[in-house]
Amino acid sequence: MLSPFKILSKDPNCQARTGILYTRHGAVHTPVFMPVATQGSVKALTDEDLKNAGAECLLSNTYHLYLRPTTKLLQQLGGLHKFMHWDGSILTDSGGFQVYSLPKFRKIKEEGVTFQSHHDGSKHLFTPENVIQFESEIGSDIWTMLDVCIHAKNPTKHDAREALDITKRWAQRAERAYEKIVPVQNIVQNTDGSFTVNNSLLFGIIQGSIFPDLRKEAALHMAGLPTHGYCIGGLSLGETLEQMNEAVSAVTENLPEAKPRYFMGLGTPVEMLNSIERGVDMFDCVWPTRVARNGMVMTSQGRMNIKNAAYRTQDIPLDDQCDCFTCRHYSRAYLCHLFRAQELTSHRLLSIHNIRFLIHLMEQARTAIKSGTFLSFKEDIIQQYSQQG
Ligand SMILES: [Zn+2]
Repeated sequence: MLSPFKILSKDPNCQARTGILYTRHGAVHTPVFMPVATQGSVKALTDEDLKNAGAECLLSNTYHLYLRPTTKLLQQLGGLHKFMHWDGSILTDSGGFQVYSLPKFRKIKEEGVTFQSHHDGSKHLFTPENVIQFESEIGSDIWTMLDVCIHAKNPTKHDAREALDITKRWAQRAERAYEKIVPVQNIVQNTDGSFTVNNSLLFGIIQGSIFPDLRKEAALHMAGLPTHGYCIGGLSLGETLEQMNEAVSAVTENLPEAKPRYFMGLGTPVEMLNSIERGVDMFDCVWPTRVARNGMVMTSQGRMNIKNAAYRTQDIPLDDQCDCFTCRHYSRAYLCHLFRAQELTSHRLLSIHNIRFLIHLMEQARTAIKSGTFLSFKEDIIQQYSQQG
């Protein structure tokens, strides 16, 4: 299947590459960080804040939107883009991870997974087929397949094998469900190498936990299915950095080069850069906005907590290297005051900064890849992060 992904440059010293993924809602430059709009909103931010921070693609959660406001209602109201006033790209996850997070209330069978709503305890069934249907009702640009996720901290190989086998069988069913909704691919490659895309894209999810042999098997299986790209699921869930890196390498080394790879749920700088080095193109995480609401910000000098009394009198921006709205207009002293006074504006201003920080980090990574200096760029960033404030 033709993937509307154009590779622009490759770093000769590692697997890192830059590219553009084209969707129905425009170009997404990779490596990319995608802010998470869990319930159709990136917490505390508007679409304008996200645009100004340079966001090109958001992630939203099928599980949450299915339960509330319901995907049927979203479809009636013209889809998620119109509902939340976002004209960039949207990727939806499959709900597999959210259901995994509810272990007491879920039951996995061959047909699908039954679970109880965290709102009212009502019972629901997700199948590979109906999840694709829900994503079409949401109207997102990139759809992902239902998968089975297990914890990555000391998993047993038996559990990882079981989760992988069912994920593989579900992938085939999801792919057939996608073909029913999108029977003809309307993706055209233009003479300049860009793509015009008129349908939603399908990404398969690769499981296999921390076991490189299972990851390789999962990658080869998914590479044999007609999809536009690949998600790496089930990592950043308690494994060591070494285990994460090994699992990622086992996946990317066994995937076709010409399609994008997306590491689900990763958004911490050092881990993202390690994965880019191994050929990963896309990331998402709630972490930057979640920690912002606790007063934690990332800066070019490492992390800082704005609650710290030392910032009460500092009439300088959070980060003098940052071009975000917050750093251009407000001082550390003001942000420290807002946070201590529990003013809600602090959530917005600190979230804007953290989102922009990660998007800017991806822009810097792209520049470094283009000039063949990604590895030294990565080492510099790791150095900065070892001096945390
Ligand atoms: Zn900033």
